[in-house]
Amino acid sequence: MTATATDIESEIKRLKQETDTVILAHYYQEDEIQDIADFIGDSLDLARKAQSVTHSQILFAGVHFMAETAKILNPSKRVLVPDMDAGCSLAESCPPNLFATFKANHPDHIVVTYINCTAEIKAMSDIIVTSSNAVDIVNSIPREKPIIFAPDRYLGAWVMKQTNRPMVLWNGSCIVHETFSHKQLVKLKVRYPDARVIAHPECPESILNEADFVGSTKKLLNDVVVQPHQMFIVVTEPGIIHQMKKNAPDKTFIPALSEDETCSCNTCPFMKLNTMEKIQQALRTGKPEVILQEDIRQQAERALLAMLEHSR
Ligand code: SF4
Repeated sequence: MTATATDIESEIKRLKQETDTVILAHYYQEDEIQDIADFIGDSLDLARKAQSVTHSQILFAGVHFMAETAKILNPSKRVLVPDMDAGCSLAESCPPNLFATFKANHPDHIVVTYINCTAEIKAMSDIIVTSSNAVDIVNSIPREKPIIFAPDRYLGAWVMKQTNRPMVLWNGSCIVHETFSHKQLVKLKVRYPDARVIAHPECPESILNEADFVGSTKKLLNDVVVQPHQMFIVVTEPGIIHQMKKNAPDKTFIPALSEDETCSCNTCPFMKLNTMEKIQQALRTGKPEVILQEDIRQQAERALLAMLEHSR
């Protein structure tokens, strides 16, 4: 007999208790995973939450670098992921060996790295940022200090514009945010002239120039609540719309599109590898588990703590 969605949900709840597990989930997860999580958040919230978890086990429903961040910040906890293959195109666009050479070619630079990177890259960084705090952190660095920003070139370019400060950018990008189509966005704006366009700064500049508001996932969520608009064109991963609808149930949310409007290219394929069945299986077996080399973990922790200290 095949297990129903309700059976799976009930078993996850029971296993969570039996194994003393907390489920942390990112806003880009499928709706039913967001609904079963103990805590949902963006990268900064999730890092803070992971640090303070008292349960013996964390199941991280997100992508691999996020689960690594939980392990870096709370190493005595066992950290499970539903699918070890849930990677991230942005993290993968910055291989550690090439980044080590890049860094060596820019001595004396402060290395500011977006949290969407591997533990090895975090270990080579001076300070980590998220899209919520990147502008503040860059502004806090003395102006005479040159900066390397990695791995997202679009977020880096946006931060440069906000801070009026040049930085050397690593040439990485997110396949999801990079593929929004300018032409499709303009078409949506014409079709819905009263809609407010909100976008994540991982999008290219041509897209951000069309937006009424640019901000982190958390700031976008807040914007739809506090703004008087009834309709929003949402230019980021559409998983976020589930929380937007919960927080502002009377409003309308229109996901922006890629060039081919029939393709779901703006849905993160890595985030969507996680399923309720895989969560159930991970809780049953205690696998797959995130394991980190201790020296890398410690160096990465130093850069993450520098961020958390700044954003307290
Ligand atoms: S949306 Fe982009 S940056 Fe976020 S996990 Fe997916 S590939 Fe990585």
